[in-house]
Amino acid sequence: MIYKRSSALFAEAEKVIPGGVNSPVRAFKAVGGTPIFVKSAKGAYLYDEDGNRLIDYINSWGPMILGHAYEPVVEAIIEKAKLGTSFGMPTELETQIAALAVSMVPNIDKIRFVNSGTEACMSAVRLARGFTKRDRIIKFAGCYHGHSDSFLIQAGSGAVTFGTPNSPGVTEGTAKDTLLAKYNDLENVKTLIEANKNEIAAIIVEPVAGNMGCIPPVKGFLEGLRELCTANGILLIFDEVMTGFRLARGGVQELFNIKADIVCFGKVIGGGLPVGAFAARAEIMNFLAPLGPVYQAGTLSGNPLAMAAGLAMLQALDSDRDIFKRLEEKTAYLGAGIERVLRANNVVFTINTIGSMISVHFDANPVTDFKSAAAGDNETFKKFFHGLVAEGVYIAPSAYETWFITDALTYEDLDFTINAIDKISKTF
Ligand SMILES: *Cc1c(COP(=O)(O)O)cnc(C)c1O
Repeated sequence: MIYKRSSALFAEAEKVIPGGVNSPVRAFKAVGGTPIFVKSAKGAYLYDEDGNRLIDYINSWGPMILGHAYEPVVEAIIEKAKLGTSFGMPTELETQIAALAVSMVPNIDKIRFVNSGTEACMSAVRLARGFTKRDRIIKFAGCYHGHSDSFLIQAGSGAVTFGTPNSPGVTEGTAKDTLLAKYNDLENVKTLIEANKNEIAAIIVEPVAGNMGCIPPVKGFLEGLRELCTANGILLIFDEVMTGFRLARGGVQELFNIKADIVCFGKVIGGGLPVGAFAARAEIMNFLAPLGPVYQAGTLSGNPLAMAAGLAMLQALDSDRDIFKRLEEKTAYLGAGIERVLRANNVVFTINTIGSMISVHFDANPVTDFKSAAAGDNETFKKFFHGLVAEGVYIAPSAYETWFITDALTYEDLDFTINAIDKISKTF
């Protein structure tokens, strides 16, 4: 494939945007080469500025679960735009999407909308601190909760790809209130709680991790976190920005039947527009301004275009009772196919998968936490990535990312992808 125009556009972008991108992982630093500039996308396909077509396994990092330019979402945005794009005043639409989200997700009474997953997680932690009157939080190495200060401590994906797990600009004062635990290791969490009695406001966790590849929780891990939180007056925050409305209608809470105290959303909930949200039972949510003392606000929060897109997306997912099963079947088919061809070509690998999330790791050992995810062979990943792009298949340009399966993918697309992997892995 030819990337003449992408290369030229990147050179122009680099002059006026740091690194040429508005979010670091897009710059291809981990894999080398020039980022591909997108012109348009429809269904399962991206069309770049050089006229190449790519089967897309990133889907805007999750939101496009029903495929790109999904008609009902696009229609909803167009119709709303004609009526005005922002008011900074309440609209009926906000109540409609809130009511639908509350009906789909277990164990929440109220939800507040913000503009990104970062904002959702940042606000959830402030709310937890205000509610418990404690300062510290526990997060897990390799889990990503957006780019706010408290979370940039071994933060997975983008942050890890660049080897700056602790970003300059995050003060020591902030960092000392974030305690770092090992994913899937309850004993480690227990030790931290013991050492910080009555000081921990919240444990924030990706209940299925997706920012160090896809790492499902081991049996008993989430149950154990729930028990520890309940026993110690700690709030359990499920960061379901990636998994919410993806792994099940009600997210991981429903999938594993575990109650979180606060749940964060992003990605799918906005249907591809900038939306995040956090939700909890009324007792906790009523702690927020204007009812309670914890301040949180946003000029564009609940923006009508964003809410229209999100509502159309949630309605589509809510009314399609087979969607999550269909996605899981496609993902399992892809996973089995990749496993078959990699094994036939003597490649050392581990595949992790759950629902519509899947990741391929170039290491023989099980990948269960950040350390094992980091053990993968990045040189092989680079060949894998560029080989796939040359065949017309786009995966994330980092070995720490999950692939997101969209309903728009056909079995022909999946076979095409498996054959492409067969072809390129012969050359590893
Ligand atoms: C993407 C992501 C975020 C951050 O969301 P943004 O919208 O990029 O700010 C937070 N948590 C998880 C689990 C994510 O995957």
